[in-house]
Amino acid sequence: MLSFYPGPSKVHPEVLGFIQEAFSEGVVSINHRSARFEVLLKDTLQILHEQWNIPQDYTLYFISSATEAWEIVAQSLIKEKSLNLYNGAFGKKWAHYAQQIIPKAKSIEFNIEEDLKSVADQIKEDDFDTICLVQSETSNGTGQKIDRSNFSRQKDAIIAVDATSTMGGIHLPWLEADIWFASVQKCMGIPAGLGVLICSPKALKRAKELNKKNHYNDILLMEENRKLFQTHYTPNVLSIFVLNKLAHLLPNLTEIDQQTLEKTKLLTEFFSQKNPFNLSFLVENPVVRLPTVFALKGEAIQIKRLQDLCFKNDIELGKGYGEWKEHTIRIANFPSHTLEDFHQLCKLINS
Ligand SMILES: *Cc1c(COP(=O)(O)O)cnc(C)c1O
Repeated sequence: MLSFYPGPSKVHPEVLGFIQEAFSEGVVSINHRSARFEVLLKDTLQILHEQWNIPQDYTLYFISSATEAWEIVAQSLIKEKSLNLYNGAFGKKWAHYAQQIIPKAKSIEFNIEEDLKSVADQIKEDDFDTICLVQSETSNGTGQKIDRSNFSRQKDAIIAVDATSTMGGIHLPWLEADIWFASVQKCMGIPAGLGVLICSPKALKRAKELNKKNHYNDILLMEENRKLFQTHYTPNVLSIFVLNKLAHLLPNLTEIDQQTLEKTKLLTEFFSQKNPFNLSFLVENPVVRLPTVFALKGEAIQIKRLQDLCFKNDIELGKGYGEWKEHTIRIANFPSHTLEDFHQLCKLINS
């Protein structure tokens, strides 16, 4: 089965060998306070920093998922008043959980054709201490440019960004935000069960000021463990090992970014032409289209016909999400998806 589902998605084929290696070398049984684990974690943090071009003074942590990161931001970083900007299902859920934890949390929902700059320009208040943004809204295929200067009126605000379906697949402007996070089953192309959280010195400073150590996953506790090359709880060591091996194997993110955009171009050209299922882009404004997740709309009957055709040919497409369920499909363009994979898909659609 070739999966274009936008997460969990196609896994890099090399992962099978890495899992076997982890098993035969006993990695699957190592203790997370052992020297062997510390060596693994240290090397993994280092290779990810290098391969993803992450600034040296930004720190990286392993958590369980992107969903967990929503809570970590609320519990460790928001002082009093945060703002969530969203246009889709994941952003909406994040805003909901922020509000459960932070009484003064606010949110603004915007249209899928709008870009963050124009949304930011409409913000009236200027006293938000934390801004929560979704760079990659997987549910509707919108992607946003992250730019700190859009929020310069919010003095000293921390910017937290959900980049779940782009991290590891395209270049991300690390310095434009203080928190970046993602789960591994999207762009990183490994099985689910691990999340990555990246933190700027400014975010760490905020965490220190607030000094919250109420939750096992408060950033300060994660940082204390990271300094020892350990983790705050028993992590998914197998996935850390696999991610490590993949990071060593795959090229630098600059090259992956180019490959992703090349495939984005191919798919964009393909779906801009007339196709037998009359599919068109859900998001009309090309500026806010996510390069890694294509959301295409069509009549419900055509969508079903295409899903059935793909299923018969051992290909899985992503279903529509929430309000777009019946009328859209989603196609992931992650680093695990090759040009040949897309040629196969396009050929089938045109058959
Ligand atoms: C998939 C996804 C999540 C949730 O990831 P989990 O691994 O289920 O926690 C959060 N945000 C975005 C944008 C996503 O695509």
